[in-house]
Amino acid sequence: MRIALIAGNWKMNTTAAEATKLVREMLDRLEEATGVEKVLCPPFVSLAAVRELVKGSSVKLGAQNMHFEAKGAYTGEISPLMLAGLCEFVILGHSERRQYFGETDHIIGKKIVAALRNRLKPIFCIGEKLEENEAGRTKEIIARQMSQGLSKAKPSPDIVIAYEPIWAIGTGRAADGEQAAATIGFIRYTLSRLWNENVAQELRILYGGSVTSSNIAEFISQPEIDGALVGGASLNAQEFLSIVEQTAAIKTKQSAIRRQQIADSK
Ligand code: PEP
Repeated sequence: MRIALIAGNWKMNTTAAEATKLVREMLDRLEEATGVEKVLCPPFVSLAAVRELVKGSSVKLGAQNMHFEAKGAYTGEISPLMLAGLCEFVILGHSERRQYFGETDHIIGKKIVAALRNRLKPIFCIGEKLEENEAGRTKEIIARQMSQGLSKAKPSPDIVIAYEPIWAIGTGRAADGEQAAATIGFIRYTLSRLWNENVAQELRILYGGSVTSSNIAEFISQPEIDGALVGGASLNAQEFLSIVEQTAAIKTKQSAIRRQQIADSK
């Protein structure tokens, strides 16, 4: 059974002092939420400070990006080697990286390979633009992003996929739960074709795009959706805590039902 995951992408927000304050506000209640993996992705410069705060807790850390090379003349870049001791996850291929920093499926593919080589778990973001969605091209776009992004990677359950329709990111216009679950079902099917059914069933697939405490239940109650990548709402302690706590409650209930179904079928 897949363990639910909620990741907070703080983007280019919070000074080191603000990051520390935000973590302190959330840590006790995050720790109490069981049955869900909790991942905070602060800016690079706050990773070490946040790491100290969450040490010994069940809260995990992620970076928001990285270069694919281990070291070298790449001014301003951060390598997988540097992140390996600092965090467990790394967000790769976020639509803002694709849009503002020219990241292509090919570059993202190299980053995924580099992350896995350094035992970092990639949160691989994919999703279509509004005009692609309206033209009925969602599946085509996602299949391309997956086949190119994963072409060099070995099948691994450490990869997390985040389905983030670009028109839903930071816009307040979330997809609806059933729509997102249907697309995520297609992503799982595509994984089974690219790799195999076992990996497709093991790998976690999140929804991302204007998730808040008011709509998280709609997504999480879909068994196909394993969690969420949360942007704006992850900067508000009460919002993020509510998202995590609702996820823990709903996914714990789903797991109990599933276990009962398996027991009944024996
Ligand atoms: C994101 O940054 O990945 C994201 C989904 O942002 P938001 O929740 O603000 O739409």
